[in-house]
Amino acid sequence: MNAHHLPEIKLYNSLTRQTEVFKPRTTDEVTLYVCGPTVYNYAHIGNARPPVVFGLLVKLLERRYAKVVYARNITDIDDKINAAAREQNVSIQVIAERYTKAYREDMQALGVAPPTIEPQATQTVDTIIGMIETLIEKQCAYVAENHVLFAIDQFKDYGALSGRSTDEMIAGARIEVAPYKRNPGDFVLWKPSDDETPGWPSPWGRGRPGWHIECSAMSALHLGKTIDIHGGGTDLKFPHHENEIAQSTCAHDGQTFARYWLHNGFVTVEGKKMSKSLGNVLLVKDLRHQAPPEALRLLLLSAHYRQPLDWSQTALTQAVRTLDRLYALLRDMHDVPALNTNTIPSSFEAALCDDLNTPKALAVLSELADTARKASSLEDRKQSKTQLLAAGALLGLLQQTPDAWFAQSTPKRERSPSEITEIESMLEQRQQAKQNKNFAVADAIRTELTKRGVVLEDTPQGTRWS
Ligand SMILES: [Zn+2]
Repeated sequence: MNAHHLPEIKLYNSLTRQTEVFKPRTTDEVTLYVCGPTVYNYAHIGNARPPVVFGLLVKLLERRYAKVVYARNITDIDDKINAAAREQNVSIQVIAERYTKAYREDMQALGVAPPTIEPQATQTVDTIIGMIETLIEKQCAYVAENHVLFAIDQFKDYGALSGRSTDEMIAGARIEVAPYKRNPGDFVLWKPSDDETPGWPSPWGRGRPGWHIECSAMSALHLGKTIDIHGGGTDLKFPHHENEIAQSTCAHDGQTFARYWLHNGFVTVEGKKMSKSLGNVLLVKDLRHQAPPEALRLLLLSAHYRQPLDWSQTALTQAVRTLDRLYALLRDMHDVPALNTNTIPSSFEAALCDDLNTPKALAVLSELADTARKASSLEDRKQSKTQLLAAGALLGLLQQTPDAWFAQSTPKRERSPSEITEIESMLEQRQQAKQNKNFAVADAIRTELTKRGVVLEDTPQGTRWS
């Protein structure tokens, strides 16, 4: 593949609020940082959108540049992790390891390749402390009552990314007004830990870093002071990304932190914001049992990444049907050999290069399928099948055998959403019964499920059903 023949990549930069032609700092290397999960719970479908979207961007970049270094962190120091550890009477390592493992499994199921580097906060504490010391030296941060705070009035561009005034930011983020803060908008770089709370030794006493400094420190450590692309959910623009910019720019004497800022939109569920109180938080691990993971991936890519994405049962069923049609076509063409090239049609590539326009790319994929259906000569059939598979590969779709797809998609699809919910709930009751060593109840539930044609398979990762 000759990179010179590929169209330019255009990306919407949230910082300049413009679509710009992407040009990396150096001709053959791209650096990219994406804020990763805080590992205190299972990932919900909204958490899955950035890794899917930015993972696709990485694949697109890899077609052009010799080296793409992609860091996506694991936040394993956080008060939510501390709270979960206390509640379950285990160490924070146990909590962090459990949910990191679950996150990786979910991402793998969704066809998300691991990043080049996956730094953890607990492994970066020394670098974090070093960066905080630099900020204090440069008088961008100050020590007060065992805390270290960033002084936002030392950074004149504070608010440039989110486009808000300091007053608006403080009101919007419900920032804690603490007596030791010089300015109510100043944010925590380091805070003290009491004896019951995990902590690390530091020049300011035993304590732990705030969340924002972690990304600035990891990004500088692994990717250098200036990175090409920084990505994350739009909800992170303020305060998290605003604070990352302030910390990194001040620590590095005004050097640009990230050249292109990319933000993905929210995921709503049946038109509503996901929330614990509404009980509509959809976990990836549960959705993986309700539909083939490839259909989840297709649905996540069906809206443009900057737009909100509404997750619904109707849309999920639609995604399964779309893949059924595509795999049925591939099954019909099973005797057609694909060509030994990796030619991605230019219209498809152009759609993705246009600020990662996945709805357009999916429309082109569907046109490629139509062309393949109509092709009559063997040569045309070979050509069209090859193009369809190559385009699918870039999107992370159509890479299993039709048989494997239909084995996954057929049995569950025939059940109604309410029936699936009921089965899932019975599985949970069975799990609970097993935990309470109430094996008679567990067996009774199993028998009832078997009557309904549900096949159970207990694995170390939990119970699978089909
Ligand atoms: Zn971050």
